[in-house]
Amino acid sequence: MISLQHIQKKFDGKTVINDLNLQIKQGEFFVLVGTSGSGKTTTLKMINRLEEQDDGDILIESKKVKDFDLQDLRWNMGYVLQQIALFPTMTVAQNIGLIPEMKGWNKQKVAATVDRLLTEVGLDPETYRSRMPSELSGGEQQRIGICRAIASEPPVVLMDEPFSALDPISRNQLQDLVLMLHQRLHDTVVFVTHDMNEALKLGDRIAVMSKGEILQVDTPAKIAQNPANEFVKEFFAHSN
Ligand code: ATP
Repeated sequence: MISLQHIQKKFDGKTVINDLNLQIKQGEFFVLVGTSGSGKTTTLKMINRLEEQDDGDILIESKKVKDFDLQDLRWNMGYVLQQIALFPTMTVAQNIGLIPEMKGWNKQKVAATVDRLLTEVGLDPETYRSRMPSELSGGEQQRIGICRAIASEPPVVLMDEPFSALDPISRNQLQDLVLMLHQRLHDTVVFVTHDMNEALKLGDRIAVMSKGEILQVDTPAKIAQNPANEFVKEFFAHSN
C-alpha cells in the first residue's frame, strides 16, 4: 500500500498540490490522469523523493518514504519516463542489467534476465543485447527503458507518460506489453498520463486530477458510468 496523506506542495510560493490524499493498493495498476499542469508528475516524483512535499506524509506500507534509505527506496521502485533516459555509453544488456548487477546478482542470472526481458518485449536478444541506445528507434528505446525499470522485479514501478512520444500503433503495443508484464510481476504500478483513453485501458483504478486536487478515484467502469462532476464528465467525453 502506498498512502499519500494531506500532501501539500508549492513551487515559488504557488500551491501546485493541495491537500492530496490517495491510497494505492498493493499489486494494483493505478493511473493518475489529468490535464497538463495538474500536478501528476510532481505527485509521482514525491513518491520516489525526486521532489519533497512541503506538508503531509507518504507511506509505503507503514513506513514514511522520508525515513527510507534513498538507495533502498530507489532500488525498490522502477521509474520509466517519457524522455527515454538510457545510459548512452552502455549497451542494451548493460542498461537492463545495471540494477540487478548493483544488487549483486551473479552474471548468469543477470544475462538470463536480460534475454528473458528482451524476448518478452519482442526484441530478439541475439540482435539487440549488444546494441547501443543510439542504434535503437524511439519505441525500441522505450521497450528497453521498461526492461531496465523492472529488471530486478521491484515491488513498485512509477511510469510518467512513457508512451506519449510514440505513434499510436507502438503506443498500443506498449500498453499491452506493460499490462502483460504487470500480470506476470504483480507489481504496484503508478502510471501518469493526460490521455483518458490510456487511463481507461490500463487502470484497475484511476485518479482524475485537476489543479493539484483529486476530483475522483474509481474504477474505469464507475468513472464512465458516474463521473463525479462536470470536469470529469467533459474530460471523459473528449477522450472518446
Ligand atoms: P504535464 O502533463 O504537462 O506533465 P503535470 O500534471 O505532470 O503536467 P506537473 O509537472 O506536476 O504537472 O506540474 C504542476 C505544476 O507545478 C505546474 O504548474 C508546473 O509549472 C509546476 N512545476 C512543476 N515542477 C516545477 C519546478 N521544478 N519549479 C517550479 N514549478 C514547477
